[in-house]
Amino acid sequence: MEFEHQPPETTLAFTEEPQPEVVQAEIRRTRHRKELKLYRFLIVLGILAVLYVLWQTGQRPSLQDYQHYGYSDPTAAATLYTIALIASLFTGIGGIVIFLISLLFQYYSYYGGQLAFSIRVSEKNFPEIYHKAQEYRSLLRLRKMPEIYVRQMNGQVNAYTSWVPGKTFIQLNAEIVDLAYMENKDFDTVFFVMAHEFGHVYLHHVQLGYTLWPMLAMFFPAVGQLFYLGLQRAREYSADRVAQALTGGKAELETMMMLSAGRHAYKYVDAGDYVERINEHNRALERFARWCINFGSTHPIHPYRVRAILDPEKRSGRLL
Ligand SMILES: [Zn+2]
Repeated sequence: MEFEHQPPETTLAFTEEPQPEVVQAEIRRTRHRKELKLYRFLIVLGILAVLYVLWQTGQRPSLQDYQHYGYSDPTAAATLYTIALIASLFTGIGGIVIFLISLLFQYYSYYGGQLAFSIRVSEKNFPEIYHKAQEYRSLLRLRKMPEIYVRQMNGQVNAYTSWVPGKTFIQLNAEIVDLAYMENKDFDTVFFVMAHEFGHVYLHHVQLGYTLWPMLAMFFPAVGQLFYLGLQRAREYSADRVAQALTGGKAELETMMMLSAGRHAYKYVDAGDYVERINEHNRALERFARWCINFGSTHPIHPYRVRAILDPEKRSGRLL
């Protein structure tokens, strides 16, 4: 079958200047329908986790309890009590405080990495990217422009968005930016990747205020972690929809081919062949192996993501 990918025929196949209201309405319509449900569930789980820790802390035996339960030697009782007290600093409420501090430290270490090793996108550095970012900002009506950085990552084709108090920032790996400035001169794919990252900013996926409770839910072993992974996959689908809304679907499939085949060979991939083959696996064990990879991943596997991207009705992508 001859396969020719065309950007979808929606209100967003831009024939004229895109309008913020239209773009934002499309984002609301196509956001993954499980994202907010999972988010709310994880908030409840996070609150329960904190309540449990508070209750546990209240249950901690006092010095008198130690003396009462057979440690009549006051020194032994005091020593055991002190050891338990120090241990509780790392397990109960103390554990949560340490977790929060380490989380903040991690956010700042990502930002510090930009200040240490990256080039900030500006009117003079990578101006095409700078101007496109301005366009995305005004379409999404973001109060503040995310800072955008270019950083070489030894061949990793990737980008990410993060936050520190007062600002969000996007790292575009130089390996992505190369698509525009090396042999392919492919700005559209770079813009699609950047639009996806703007999606994370617009939908507040990275601010601590958004992620705190779901992260605390991870104190519930297994359940919290697995549901949090599910939320992360739903967010990726939502960010893809934002990218489609911002770009009118331009380079949506090329971007996925690039993420699989790398920044040079993707131009030689027959996307139609790829799309046909993702449905080819009939054996249950093969499908199960692929399912397991998706189940344990922060990002939906590429066949699921491609299927969601190509869905003309833009239904929510497959989480499991
Ligand atoms: Zn993402």
